Amino acid sequence: MEYDKLSPVRVGVREAPFRSFLGRQEPSIVHFSPEAGNSLVVDQNDYHFDHAFRSTVSQLELYGALIMPLVGKVFCGFECTVMAYGQTGTGKSYSMGMTADNQATSEEHLGVLPRCLCDILDRVAAKQENTLERIQVSASYIEIYNEKAYDLLAATPMDPMLASRSDSCTCLPLASQEDLQRLLQLGNNNRHVRRTNMNANSSRSHAIVTIHLRRQGGQLSRMNIVDLAGSEGVRRTGHKGVARQEGVSINMGLLSVNKVVMAMAAGHAVIPYRDSVLTTVLQKSLTSQSYLTLLACISPHACDLSETISTLRFAKSAKRLRLNPQQLMM
Ligand code: ADP
Ligand code: MG
Repeated sequence: MEYDKLSPVRVGVREAPFRSFLGRQEPSIVHFSPEAGNSLVVDQNDYHFDHAFRSTVSQLELYGALIMPLVGKVFCGFECTVMAYGQTGTGKSYSMGMTADNQATSEEHLGVLPRCLCDILDRVAAKQENTLERIQVSASYIEIYNEKAYDLLAATPMDPMLASRSDSCTCLPLASQEDLQRLLQLGNNNRHVRRTNMNANSSRSHAIVTIHLRRQGGQLSRMNIVDLAGSEGVRRTGHKGVARQEGVSINMGLLSVNKVVMAMAAGHAVIPYRDSVLTTVLQKSLTSQSYLTLLACISPHACDLSETISTLRFAKSAKRLRLNPQQLMM
């Protein structure tokens, strides 16, 4: 069996390229170990992860090292989640491939989502050549904004749905990259987007695209691609009123992912999934029977040091998680 030794929790860190609007290029605050591909030093502290990607890493290299092994696990019946965490502007959406402008995006820039779909569709086609088994591939797209979940593909996407009923949200069939682009376009048009003074296109909400594999007989496995809202503090984005409330909700969601991860790491019997909508929606995918891969996106800029340290701390806490998935099928 391929990738049998795959660790259930894997953490990668990716350094973003310099943001051009900040003017002249200063030295990066992130120092990579010249020998190992998994260590870095920030502010004189060493961090060790499964992978540490420099800003020059290609989308293909990142996908191959961090994400591709999960596709094998989805075909073995496991719930798999890839989650991009970090400050706004550090490349979470770019890495996850959540934008729908693939006509304009050259192939080398394609993110995790289209690459995953490509591998999944290839495997389904190969399996169906050899057996009569039929596997249906479909996807759903959920947004979590201000502690409410929205089914972005539904006929009424502005009506919040019950987070505990996220299993029954709209799924559209996916047979090609064009289907994925249409789905992202539809979903992205329905997202709540607000400008902040950190990134004009910043999304203040969490986005979850789930690829569902359904076999005859109803067995199901899923790959969740989660593009979390910016992890920066409310202070820093300088908002008042509605936007401040957004900041509070975002922090609540991220804090509860942290609490769930910590409770699982500590082996607690009760895991606080219901503390936030984000963890309620992801409940079935954040269990000891699933695979979780975190991509922590960090900035090279000195002015972002405190956010970078907080992102690295979160990534370190995720690394302490102990999941123990058992082989489920095939
Ligand atoms: P986030 O989702 O974390 O707020 P984005 O993914 O929107 O950040 O990235 C901010 C900008 O930087 C986007 O224009 C994106 O295309 C660009 N970008 C981010 N990472 C890279 C990268 N590794 N290579 C090229 N462009 C990048
Ligand atoms: Mg984004």
